[in-house]
Amino acid sequence: MNDLIWMNGETIPFADARVGVEDRGFQFADGVYEVIRLYRGRPFTLDEHLARLERSATGVDIPMPLDRGALAAEIRKLVSRTGVGDGMVYLQLTRGIAPRNHIYPAGLKPTLLFYVRPLPPTLPPGEGEGMKLLAVRDERWQRCWIKSIALLPNILAKNAAVAAGADEAVFVDSSVVTECSASNLFAVISGKLVTHPVGSRVLPGITRALLLDCAAKLNIEVDERSFVEEEAIRAAELFISSTTREISWVARWNERYIGQARCGPITIALHHELCKKVRADTN
Ligand code: PMP
Repeated sequence: MNDLIWMNGETIPFADARVGVEDRGFQFADGVYEVIRLYRGRPFTLDEHLARLERSATGVDIPMPLDRGALAAEIRKLVSRTGVGDGMVYLQLTRGIAPRNHIYPAGLKPTLLFYVRPLPPTLPPGEGEGMKLLAVRDERWQRCWIKSIALLPNILAKNAAVAAGADEAVFVDSSVVTECSASNLFAVISGKLVTHPVGSRVLPGITRALLLDCAAKLNIEVDERSFVEEEAIRAAELFISSTTREISWVARWNERYIGQARCGPITIALHHELCKKVRADTN
C-alpha cells in the first residue's frame, strides 16, 4: 500500500502531513467527516456520502472547498494511487485555522483532507458471532443528522460498552432506542422492519437508506418509528448497520438474549440483497 494523504489540494506521504495547533478541528472539534467503503478499489455509494458531507457542512456553516464532482474525482485518483482494494476512505473537513476564539471569523479557509486505510473483507450474511450491545443513556446533542467530528459522547459510550464486555453501545433516550455509537439499529417486530426515523436523534446512515431500499425490493414491510427498550429486547431479530460493517446481527442486549440467539432470516435476506448491490456497483 502506498500511504498517501490528500490535504488541501496536495497529495503527500501520510507521514509528512501536519495540521496547525490552531486548526479549529483540533481545538473545538469544529468539523464534519465521512467514511466511505472501498470494494475492489472502488468507492461504494460515493455520491451519497458526498451529498451527506455537503448537508453536514451546510449544517455547521462550513463552505465546501470543492464541488462534489471535483471531490469525487480527487478521491478516486487517491484511491487508485494507494493500491488499496478492500478498505475505506476517511475524509475530514474542518473550519480551518484562526486564533482560538469561540467566534469564527468570516472567510476562513477550511481544512479538507482524506486518506485510505485497508479493511478486512466483511463476513458473509449470517456468519460470525452475534454482537453484544450495552444500553447507555443518550446524552448527545439534538443534531445527530450532522456527521460531526465531536464524537466524545459516542467514544465514552463505546468504551463503556467494551469495558463491560460488550461490542457496541446502544443509545437509549428516556427508554426510546435511537441508534448505536457508530451504527444504526434495526429490529424485526411482528414481521416488520422497525428503525428510528433519522433527524435530531439519529444519523441518516447511508447503509440504513440502502437497507430500506432492499426491504422494499424484498417486500418486507418497514415501520420508521421510535421504539422502546422493552420492544427491542423482545424483537425477533436485531441488527446494526454501518458503512464499514454492512450488517452485524445482535445476539445480546445487556444480559438478555435476542430472538433465537442466532442470525435471523430477515437479517440474512437483507444482507444478501445489500451484497448484490455492492457487487453490481463495484464490479
Ligand atoms: N450512526 C452513527 C452514530 C454512526 O457513527 C454511523 C457510522 N458512520 C452510522 C450511524 C452508520 O452510518 P453509515 O451507514 O453511513 O456508515
